[in-house]
Amino acid sequence: MSFSIEVAERAMVACGRHCCLCHKFCSIKIELHHIKQKADGGEDSFENCIPLCFDCHAEVKAYNPRHPKGRQYTESELKQHRDNWYEKNKKSGGINCNEAYFDLDKQVFCQIKQILTSARMQKITSYNYAGFSYNRETMMNPLYEFLYRCDEPEFEFIDVDLEAIRITLKDCIDEFTELLATNGFVVRGELSSIPAEWEYEQPERFWKIVNRVHDVAAEMWKAYSDLIKLGRRKLGI
Ligand SMILES: [Zn+2]
Repeated sequence: MSFSIEVAERAMVACGRHCCLCHKFCSIKIELHHIKQKADGGEDSFENCIPLCFDCHAEVKAYNPRHPKGRQYTESELKQHRDNWYEKNKKSGGINCNEAYFDLDKQVFCQIKQILTSARMQKITSYNYAGFSYNRETMMNPLYEFLYRCDEPEFEFIDVDLEAIRITLKDCIDEFTELLATNGFVVRGELSSIPAEWEYEQPERFWKIVNRVHDVAAEMWKAYSDLIKLGRRKLGI
């Protein structure tokens, strides 16, 4: 026996055909998992059922207690994930299921990836700003372009989780560009730098600025990678 058509339908409507773990919209690529396995006495009930995408279902099933690797999902954890998602889906009025909204978010996501590529962001955020000169044009322009686009009303996600990270990323980039704009001086041509001589002349000021720049760079990288990871999972690109 498996889940009855009534249980399956209730679960599909409750999750809006999204995976209860990664929240990706699945359409027909969705499966119903027994939270407590049938072999352990789990029932074919709505309470024991969690809708999952193929990838998450494979991961949840793949855990082998004889060769433990990573951390297994517990039954109560799966239930909490499911209940939270059902609640969220109900509150949103099914807004996330709408393919049109999904496409709008995909467009914004692709535009962000075009302006801020991973390679570029890695270079900007891992650079040593302690008195070393950087090229303003190649390092700062993508960040300014992103900020400029953020003024457009279309340049936001309808999905609340993606939008929250986009705002965090924008705040980090705002502070980062502001710090370098007020403390970076032209050394020659396109090159700018937090003055290296400050390290000896006014070390306290120098390290305060340098440390803050590096901290904000790390936060910026975290927000950026969180956005890319979540976007890939939610939007499937
Ligand atoms: Zn999933």
